[in-house]
Amino acid sequence: MKTLTEDQKKYLMDSIREIPDFPKPGILFKDITTLLNNSEAFNLLMEHLTARYQEKNLDFVAGIESRGFIFGAALAAKLGVGFVPIRKKGKLPGTTIGEKYALEYGVDEVEIHIDAFRGREGARVLLIDDLIATGGTAEAAAKLIRDAKGECVEACFLIDLTFLGGKEKLKPLTSFYSVLEVV
Ligand code: AMP
Repeated sequence: MKTLTEDQKKYLMDSIREIPDFPKPGILFKDITTLLNNSEAFNLLMEHLTARYQEKNLDFVAGIESRGFIFGAALAAKLGVGFVPIRKKGKLPGTTIGEKYALEYGVDEVEIHIDAFRGREGARVLLIDDLIATGGTAEAAAKLIRDAKGECVEACFLIDLTFLGGKEKLKPLTSFYSVLEVV
């Protein structure tokens, strides 16, 4: 189903557990492991994403470490396209391109293999992660796709914490989709 009903969205939202003060005080952590271990919820989500993206002519799905790997790899297999990991600095073994982004305190960096898209200039790539908060990670990831000569067709998230405005950071780079919104 390309569009989810409000009841289906509520079902998915209710399948995600909230853990207060993790990993630090003041953060309400959205724990998607309770969606993953619920076969009905996981299936509903994957069927929805497959329906949304199967006619978008994608070449690759790129997932952000680490929860983006779970959804991204499952979706890539369903779509019959390749999967590309975008990882924290120092984890990918081949030649990489890196992109730094600001954290609340300090900076972090994500990397992609320089040959991730197998030499296909303009490869059509879907970026995916479980959640967008401030958008710093996703913005850096979208830039990496561009720098590796892919075309980031859309950035897709299970949850958008809309009050943090992350979506705005992606506007100059790609289009945006979130399955669920927290306002
Ligand atoms: P940001 O760069 O601020 O958009 O943060 C996004 C990344 O941090 C994603 O990889 C999320 O999985 C993780 N993240 C941020 N806030 C939360 C939260 N409240 N619950 C779960 N994951 C979060």
